Amino acid sequence: MIDTPPSNSHDAAPPVFRFAPSPNGPLHLGHALSATIGYRMAQSAGGRFLLRIEDIDTTRTRLEFITAIFDDLAWLGLTWERPVLFQSERFAAYAEAASRLRKTGLLYPCFASRSEINAVVANCPNLRDPDGAPLFPVTLRRVSEAVAADRQARGETFALRLDMARAVAAVEQKLKGQPLTFREIGPDGQIRVVPAEPQRWGDVVIMRKETPASYHIAVVVDDAFQGVTHVTRGQDLFAATGLHRLLQVLLDLPEPIYHHHGLVRDEAGLKLSKSAGSVGLSSLRASGLSPEALIAQLDITAPTPLRP
Ligand code: GLU
Repeated sequence: MIDTPPSNSHDAAPPVFRFAPSPNGPLHLGHALSATIGYRMAQSAGGRFLLRIEDIDTTRTRLEFITAIFDDLAWLGLTWERPVLFQSERFAAYAEAASRLRKTGLLYPCFASRSEINAVVANCPNLRDPDGAPLFPVTLRRVSEAVAADRQARGETFALRLDMARAVAAVEQKLKGQPLTFREIGPDGQIRVVPAEPQRWGDVVIMRKETPASYHIAVVVDDAFQGVTHVTRGQDLFAATGLHRLLQVLLDLPEPIYHHHGLVRDEAGLKLSKSAGSVGLSSLRASGLSPEALIAQLDITAPTPLRP
């Protein structure tokens, strides 16, 4: 068994919302929007609001970014429960979840290097996952168990990838033919059922070569561990929800309700990002902007989540 989730399934338990930033750069207006929406939805539903620091990529995490997350959110007027969960302290839980998947034959070791993958995908540039990354080529897929054991014994590092075809078949069996879906809260607060499409990700990495985890496994394990009932996050993660639902079914984890909100865009219409150097909340704060003025700039629609 992986971690026992705190029991939130009881009708009387308050709903649980979370904001889960990665501390690899300064928070920007998009994060202010996301955190405020989650916080307001929690308040209007009489729920709890958690902050989770998604610091599995220890090479990109910096202490100053973590400190700035706390300062920026407090400046925005948000409060959250303590203690804050740090994913870098949860690698054992992710490894356990991955080992459950591996025991049922759903993960395979992948030794392929980035350049090997690039050489193959150069011939099929249109096969992309929802993030725009090339789909993992099936021709590089499996090495035999014997070869894998040998390469492992020689100290070669490997990622663990999900065998998507097998995973989808396993989920079909578990759901007894019912379609894989998720429940999405629309802007009007109504909940609609959306078909989940995990296949679009191909044989996605579940445990990265460099990090003993991946975003996808960590997020589903921790949402369950923390008893999160409502996942609120940007539209850019809408497609990932299909994959997260697949993993939740495979790992017997509870199904949260989702709300994917609109994104803050720059003048060119591009979504803000740390890598594109979007202006950080800390510098807006330092420039003397008030939190009220900043919030007024954002199109915050925080629907009242109706109970299912
Ligand atoms: N850590 C992710 C990010 O900063 C968000 C994860 C989530 O909300 O599921 O983009």
